[in-house]
Amino acid sequence: MTAPLPRAISHLDGPEPQPGRPAGPLIGPCRSCGSATLYPVLDLGAMPLANAVLTEAGLGRPEPRHPLEVLFCPGCALVQIGTTVAPEDLFSHYAYFSSYATTAVECAESLAVSVIQRRGLGPGSLAMEVASNDGYLLRHYVAQGVPVLGIDPAANVVVAAEAAGVRTICGFFGPELAEELRASGRMADVLHANNVLAHVPDVNGFASAIGRVLVDRGDLALEQASMQGIKAWARRHPEQLNDLLNSNPSYVFFRELPAGLNGPLGALGVPLTAGRSIAIDPRHVPLGAPVFVATTWPNSPKPLNRLMLAQDTGGAIRGAVRADFFWGYGDAAGREAGRMKQALRMWVLLPHGYPVPGGVAHQ
Ligand SMILES: [Zn+2]
Repeated sequence: MTAPLPRAISHLDGPEPQPGRPAGPLIGPCRSCGSATLYPVLDLGAMPLANAVLTEAGLGRPEPRHPLEVLFCPGCALVQIGTTVAPEDLFSHYAYFSSYATTAVECAESLAVSVIQRRGLGPGSLAMEVASNDGYLLRHYVAQGVPVLGIDPAANVVVAAEAAGVRTICGFFGPELAEELRASGRMADVLHANNVLAHVPDVNGFASAIGRVLVDRGDLALEQASMQGIKAWARRHPEQLNDLLNSNPSYVFFRELPAGLNGPLGALGVPLTAGRSIAIDPRHVPLGAPVFVATTWPNSPKPLNRLMLAQDTGGAIRGAVRADFFWGYGDAAGREAGRMKQALRMWVLLPHGYPVPGGVAHQ
């Protein structure tokens, strides 16, 4: 990689538009929450693909390049790249074999052994890994007599995994494959997904697919990543930063909230209130607007007419008349949320003369 070092790394602290760009937000939508507003934090121009190692014969030919711009979503804090390269182009042949790193293999072994012991896994269980590479992790389950299923899109690493005794499907994990696995009874007691979420263009589809293949009370082991951790890593490895950004469509960040908040923070930045907050499509309903909602209680004809507040957004919430109801915490709230899927009418209350987003008729 020959691009200049990304001085703009400090801009990851906040959504400052870069000089030379038109001021103001860019067009979304965000890969996670669907927000239409994304801010550029780093533009590396057109870059060749990471790990697309050239052969000698290819050295004189032009290399395919793709725009590489990092965007920040103020709605959900997801940092993501603006252009998605077809996963088939990125991952069908993978130059990196996870078992090259002996420390990673040792770490994988101790993880597998501890999960097997903790969950009492045996010949009747199934350990699954998404992006299982050459079986560096699952082989340790095999050694302990636990059946495994790896999933990886790169044919060359799948060959290596199979040779190591790790049964592996060559394909992309998503809702479709998850449905297939579920239908054929291949449900995971533990599902590993290390260093994969950041490579996934459809974050929400991936997350829902995980739910489809996990047995009840199954374990999910996702990699840990934080903005601080990635920034610290980037400072230690500036020469590898471009590779990282080039290969990862998105990062998901989790943050610890201060104690004493009454609810999770929505896209508006205020705590959500059970039974009073809704998530809407911000292309049609302004965040913060009061919305009168007319619907019914879940699975019931009992009317539910209520003034609510548009305080959050969501990836699946698309369209002018669409809202997700925040039920709060706990089992009872979970039951209501799980059952709620009915028609509604919405009246968005706006100050007189306020421009109506999305071109919906002003009434
Ligand atoms: Zn977002």
